[in-house]
Amino acid sequence: EQMMENVDPEKLRPRPPVVTIMGHVDHGKTSLLDKIRKSNVAAGEVGGITQVIRAWSVTHKVLNPDDPNEELLEKQITFLDTPGHEAFTKMRARGANVTDIAVIVVAATDGVMPQTEEAVNHAKAADVRIIVAINKVDAPNANVERTKRQLYNLNLLPDNMGGDIQFVETSALTGQGIDDLLTAISLEAEFNLADELKADPDRPAFGTCLEGYMTAGEGVNATVLVQQGTLRPGDIVLCGANYGRVRTMYNDHGVAIEEAGPSTPVRITGLGGVPNADDPFYAVDELTTAAKIAEAREKKDREASLNRFQA
Ligand code: GDP
Repeated sequence: EQMMENVDPEKLRPRPPVVTIMGHVDHGKTSLLDKIRKSNVAAGEVGGITQVIRAWSVTHKVLNPDDPNEELLEKQITFLDTPGHEAFTKMRARGANVTDIAVIVVAATDGVMPQTEEAVNHAKAADVRIIVAINKVDAPNANVERTKRQLYNLNLLPDNMGGDIQFVETSALTGQGIDDLLTAISLEAEFNLADELKADPDRPAFGTCLEGYMTAGEGVNATVLVQQGTLRPGDIVLCGANYGRVRTMYNDHGVAIEEAGPSTPVRITGLGGVPNADDPFYAVDELTTAAKIAEAREKKDREASLNRFQA
């Protein structure tokens, strides 16, 4: 699509990193995401975390280890709760590179497993930065050293071994290391990704649909990740083969908001049909333009499925 070419380098501003957690089943991806969310919920804001959403942001402060009163860095981080490795690869195949950092979770109890290796390969192929979280370090049968050796064998090397991969030991059960993991992500963003983590907030929005669904009250809902520009209610958006005017926009706490800039996940209502995960979306000037493109896309999709049927 007409995405990156319209971006003016002069107008680029820093944006938060978008992080995906990957790893073998049962190694603690969901538990880590839960723990991170809960650690970041402001006091009194209990309702905010019960929502099931595909993407959300946290704010993390990196404190001086020698003087916890000194704040060295404050970063916003966007987490994607992706349904799995396959989706990650599919997304990339369609040109939707939404992730900047992949956290590879390995349980120290099991060590490296087949899907760990698969996750590492996906992350490397997508050319995203990797951070390793060795999880379940609280478990009596955890073997951190063995797990590290297995990871080194996958060519994931920390800086004291000539590599540049950050290793963090975590327990999603006790909360140990969660802060260290957020710090590792913040440092990665600040020092290894500073050039990539930029976007122009002033242009018309574009990004990627993370999920689409219907609700009885609001009709078509879409959770989208804004990647460039700023999205506002009233904007006309084209999302895959669907289009419409953004009616209401909600942030990751379910609060209606008036604008969403780069790396912000939002839920929007107002599309005419349910879009697919991975569909690119962009704001356009005219409803008629959106309608024409949507129609052309629908025709193309129909022909593609017909071809598949005939093949
Ligand atoms: P996922 O399949 O990777 O999302 O893994 P889950 O988050 O569902 O965790 C799988 C199981 O491991 C659950 O029973 C969790 O309670 C448990 N678990 C996750 N993290 C930890 C941890 O740090 N320590 C211990 N002891 N158990 C954990």
